[in-house]
Amino acid sequence: MKTLTISNSYETFYCITKTLQNSRMMHVKDTQEAISLLANEDDFDLIFLDDTLEKSDVIEFFITLEKLNNPYRARSLFLTQEKDTDFVKQIIQLGCTQAVSKCSSNDILAEEIKPHLEIMKLKNQLDRNLSHQHSLFKTIYQQSPIGIVLGNKQKINGEWEGIFLDVNQALLNITNYKKEYLLQHGWERITHPEDTQKNRELYQAFYNNEISKFTIEKRYIRKDGEIIWVLMDVTSLETDESSSTFLCLIQNVTERKLIEQALQESERAKSVLLSNLPGMAYRCFIDNDWTMKFVSLGCLELTGYSPEDLIDNKTIAFNDIIASEYRQMLWDKWQEAIVSHDAFEYEYEIICANKERKWVLEKGEAIYDDKNHAVAIEGMIFNITRRKNYEEKLKFLSEHDTLTGLYNREYLSTRLKKLQPNHKNALMIVNFHRVNSLSLTYGFSFSEQIVRELSRTILALFDTKREVYQVSFERVGVLIKNYDDQESLIAIANEAINACLTLDITKIIGCNVGILQIDECYCDCDAEQMIRNASIASEQHYKQMTSINFFTSDLSITTKRESEIKNALIQYVDNPDNHFYLNFQPILETTSKKVVGFEALSRFEIDELGSISPNEFIPLAEETQVILPLGDIIFEKACQFKQACDKAGYPHLQISINISMLQLLKDEFVSDFMLLFSKYDIDLKTVQLEVTESIFSDNFINLNEKLQQLRLLGVKIAIDDFGTGYSSFARERELMIDTIKVDKQFIDRIFNLPDNQLVTSDIIAMAHKLNYRVVAEGVENKRQYDYLSKYECDLLQGYYFSKPLPFRDALDFLHKQNG
Ligand code: C2E
Ligand code: CA
Ligand code: CA
Repeated sequence: MKTLTISNSYETFYCITKTLQNSRMMHVKDTQEAISLLANEDDFDLIFLDDTLEKSDVIEFFITLEKLNNPYRARSLFLTQEKDTDFVKQIIQLGCTQAVSKCSSNDILAEEIKPHLEIMKLKNQLDRNLSHQHSLFKTIYQQSPIGIVLGNKQKINGEWEGIFLDVNQALLNITNYKKEYLLQHGWERITHPEDTQKNRELYQAFYNNEISKFTIEKRYIRKDGEIIWVLMDVTSLETDESSSTFLCLIQNVTERKLIEQALQESERAKSVLLSNLPGMAYRCFIDNDWTMKFVSLGCLELTGYSPEDLIDNKTIAFNDIIASEYRQMLWDKWQEAIVSHDAFEYEYEIICANKERKWVLEKGEAIYDDKNHAVAIEGMIFNITRRKNYEEKLKFLSEHDTLTGLYNREYLSTRLKKLQPNHKNALMIVNFHRVNSLSLTYGFSFSEQIVRELSRTILALFDTKREVYQVSFERVGVLIKNYDDQESLIAIANEAINACLTLDITKIIGCNVGILQIDECYCDCDAEQMIRNASIASEQHYKQMTSINFFTSDLSITTKRESEIKNALIQYVDNPDNHFYLNFQPILETTSKKVVGFEALSRFEIDELGSISPNEFIPLAEETQVILPLGDIIFEKACQFKQACDKAGYPHLQISINISMLQLLKDEFVSDFMLLFSKYDIDLKTVQLEVTESIFSDNFINLNEKLQQLRLLGVKIAIDDFGTGYSSFARERELMIDTIKVDKQFIDRIFNLPDNQLVTSDIIAMAHKLNYRVVAEGVENKRQYDYLSKYECDLLQGYYFSKPLPFRDALDFLHKQNG
């Protein structure tokens, strides 16, 4: 507190000094002195004027003071005994604050001064605060990174409207506009059109005093076109009847907003992901009931239960949806995963609300607290039913034969590998190898049909007792475990054969069984070798309609040789010279012993194996179909020989050629045959084709037709090996044939048995009745010759006369015999 006392009485000054202790006191004797002091110092709080001063000086003082500084600044008190005089009124009008009683008692003066002191104190404090606030505001206003707008709302035409009074630098930075532009155009121009409506509504409520402040998040379009987000706080400052100021604080929140948006986007993406996943996401407690705490929407589609049904296990616990056989296993697996901190992955089945079973894949992991205690598990459960079905289908396909549905060779192989070595196990193979030849006549789908029927017959026979496999197209394998002895294996094989024979087709194509006793060869064979060995056994005696053959080590040697021959056949059929050639065996008329023809017998010779018997290579040539090109080679060579005979002066001599069923089945057989023989200019009446009787059984109509065509051309047809196999005269009568070649076994018996026990003569007699010519094969001695002559066998062939002879030798024999 700073006071100035203007008095010419020392007593007055003394009295004031005593009353205002703790004040800075100054004393001047007249107004003149006071004016010059106040001109330099303007911070006085109280000025005391004594009534002892000249009245004119006092008036002059107040007039001057008014001009000097803020009249409200210092309070001036006139000290007088008479407070209600005109003079006092005059000076109060001139700016004097009040007249106070001038008395001898300090106490009274003190009381008089006190309220003024209080006011001054408050005023000082206020002034100090105000100046502080002002500078603070100024700093904030100018330096703050927050945009500030000082606005004013005014009543214009009865409506409240707002205008911008001032904006700070920060807002200019935020908006990139100049101050003038903002003051002129206000907020609407720079606000994003999508946000103006909302902003306008808030301003209206604010202007109408419905709200005293508001906050809005909105977008500004900066001068450069960039869109930014701002948070705006609008507060009313002071209001009177017709106007009010308000403050807008504008903060650039674009960055936060972008992060927020990105977050929202990722949240949205997460929820979209969770609700669209073909499975369910979950979080559950590790308690006995696996209490679910979160379940995503995908649950409904996966299980048929809604997430609400499962959360807190309200309607059902997920554990109860798991097919019961997996529950314990899953629990154990989860416990393992929790202990090891590993991710968990498991496939199992669930039972949906509609009782449908589904395969699911669960992937998850445990969540641990600070103390490393597992608190929950989180994961996803996917529907993998389709994949599982596909896998199962693939597995089925990889293990099964597509044609018959039986387990296939690969699966047999894996089963064989798992066999216990010390048990008596056997692999039996039922072979329908002739089924292949049916394809040539009736098409492949027909043979497929037969294979299907036969395989299923065997499968049905053994049912669940034995494992049945489709080893190849024409072979069915049966795994026989813990058999007793060979006899029991034969019994099983017979069962299979008999079951197959219930189908008529088996009587035509036959059914040969091979058995491999695994216990005896297990140590040195792998699974594939076992299957091959059983197959080799099944190919033994294949010429018989049915047979049961055990595998022996000799057989594997045979197979090795067979495959060598097959390879050689394939190799040399394109380069036949020296390797394929014919020998010719004379056929003599019984009565005249003159050569009436030759049988062409083929030979195959290679360095590695020497000369190979046709008994051995012809079946292999048939198997590999090499017989087709080979047949043409034989025809050609036979033609050359026949031509040589013609040229040698024996044009009526007959050439007899063996043909295989496969050759005859060829569509072009007859035309090719004609073409070739006309090329060598051979009279077809001198050509005979020898066919074995067994081939008629399965292709009777087709083959008989072809034979008919050939016979119409003059070609003779002979039935070879008559008496073996299925032939009977009844059957032969239906066939269009000319000659019967009685098999060697009937001729051999002539040597050993008495005449009355021989059927050979009956065969000859019967053949003659049917107008067939009869040839006896393999005549080796005089007794046979005599017998055959006696019973009027037409023609004879055998070592008794000649072995099959090479080209030249055969011609020589002809000259010598026929002269
Ligand atoms: P196959 O048609 O019955 O031929 C007769 C076989 O008996 C010939 O054996 C012949 O050498 C033999 N043989 C002839 N007389 C006697 C005899 O007095 N005693 C003995 N022990 N054997 C005799 P090969 O030449 O080994 O022919 C065997 C079989 O091979 C033939 O039997 C025939 O089925 C087949 N074959 C031979 N050449 C051909 C051919 O070019 N094409 C076809 N498809 N098969 C052929
Ligand atoms: Ca023959
Ligand atoms: Ca024969």
